[in-house]
Amino acid sequence: MNNSEKNKKINLTRELIGRLPKVLIHDHLDGGLRPETIIELAKTHNLKLPEYDPDRLSQWVLEGANSRNLTEYLKGFKITTGVMQTQEALHRVAFEMMEDMKKDGIVYVETRFSPLYHTKFGLSYDQIVESVLRGLREGSRTFNIKFGLIICAMRNLPSSGSLEMAKLAVRYREQGVVGFDLAGDELGYPAKDHLDAVYYIHRNNFYITIHAGEAFGKESIWQALQYCGTHRIGHGLHLKDDIMTKDNEIIEMGYLSQYVRDRRVPLEVCLSTNLHTGEIQNLRYHPFPIMYKNGFRVTLNTDNRLMNNITLTEELLLAVKQYNLNIRDIEKLTLNAMKSAFLHFPDRLDIIYNRIKSGFAEIKKNNQEIQGNDRNKDKSAKIVKKNLNEL
Ligand SMILES: [Zn+2]
Repeated sequence: MNNSEKNKKINLTRELIGRLPKVLIHDHLDGGLRPETIIELAKTHNLKLPEYDPDRLSQWVLEGANSRNLTEYLKGFKITTGVMQTQEALHRVAFEMMEDMKKDGIVYVETRFSPLYHTKFGLSYDQIVESVLRGLREGSRTFNIKFGLIICAMRNLPSSGSLEMAKLAVRYREQGVVGFDLAGDELGYPAKDHLDAVYYIHRNNFYITIHAGEAFGKESIWQALQYCGTHRIGHGLHLKDDIMTKDNEIIEMGYLSQYVRDRRVPLEVCLSTNLHTGEIQNLRYHPFPIMYKNGFRVTLNTDNRLMNNITLTEELLLAVKQYNLNIRDIEKLTLNAMKSAFLHFPDRLDIIYNRIKSGFAEIKKNNQEIQGNDRNKDKSAKIVKKNLNEL
């Protein structure tokens, strides 16, 4: 190896990011169906679709999702949940999701959905969860990917249903369910309306994440943390309202953002969704790089692969281009995600050492990444150093 080869910085192409061992902790099962599958399932059950060509259907969903409005964004789910009403359909969607994870280079995925939306043909909640778990387990064996399932309650639906979902999640904790989530529209639907469900989760020593600060202000994040004691935050975009910055540097932080950073609360950031729902006009204004640079435990996620028309590889590529990230940043974000996962601690360590660190080391070696490579000029490397790696 000569000197010029030694000093070569790894070029993070889509192909290379695709091969990196990645972790995804915020992905909706009903937001990631293949268009072909939707069409086939709709035909089987005589359900009407706006388009019957996969490309055109995909485009139709994307256009709705990209309307810069969360309510419009959520319309695509009527179609996807509409075709997920039988055990066969749920099993198929779950299995195909795992296959898509494999293609995306993911080694651990937490997928989530709400059984509340899958009872139209008379399935019980148990049948719904068991069908999905069967598909996930088969996919896990076939594609050598670990998974965890998160059961969602909906903040826009009655709280009695949320309590049922919480009980369902706990009931299946030995079969692959790893946590509980509160999802759905935030405006007018505060998380604290669902405290029965939330306390049930806590009383059972189980795990909880809450969508908060996605389409509503920092108060929603505060409520998720201090009323509901959430372990992670879905999105957390509006934490930016609690951080004063100038020229991309933090000038002042409120107590809420200090708490989030101090307590290492994981933030499940979803750049593409924030862009599509119009919460962020341009990725330049997204707080992700500032939070990452300043030691928040941030992760990057797909949210809804169909609606956003992305994979995790593409979401990471977007961040690489926008924020000038390097391979060490991607590794750091991957470790953040794995540390934040709802798996048991030894299982997390196993994936960290046997899949992630070893996988990154091999790809770095094969791409002749050399440590000490002109680091003073490498801003991203400095970011990693500042980021208190092991906390
Ligand atoms: Zn989400």
